[in-house]
Amino acid sequence: MPNAPKQYRPPGWKSPAERERSSPSRTHPGRKLYASQRWKDLRAVQLAQHPLCAECERQGRVTPATVCDHIEPHKWDLYKFWAGPFQSLCTSCHSAKTAKEPGAFGQ
Ligand SMILES: [Zn+2]
Repeated sequence: MPNAPKQYRPPGWKSPAERERSSPSRTHPGRKLYASQRWKDLRAVQLAQHPLCAECERQGRVTPATVCDHIEPHKWDLYKFWAGPFQSLCTSCHSAKTAKEPGAFGQ
């Protein structure tokens, strides 16, 4: 019976679950903003006014939006957080966008 090759783990390697636990965004005090009623209302208004994903629309696709996204990263600046500007995005466009923003929410 052949030995299964051992998977190489560089020093300091963390599983995705461990990385998730140690991610600062999970404990960031600003996270509570996203749980606030004010944010839920703002998000509901944004999605009611712009029900389609803006990024998909630019690419000629029609996709229902589920995320109210800050067009510019707010970096937990309260003024930017509440004032926007915002755009509606679908989940996949939103995660693609946040993945490109170091330190952004969701990192
Ligand atoms: Zn999209």
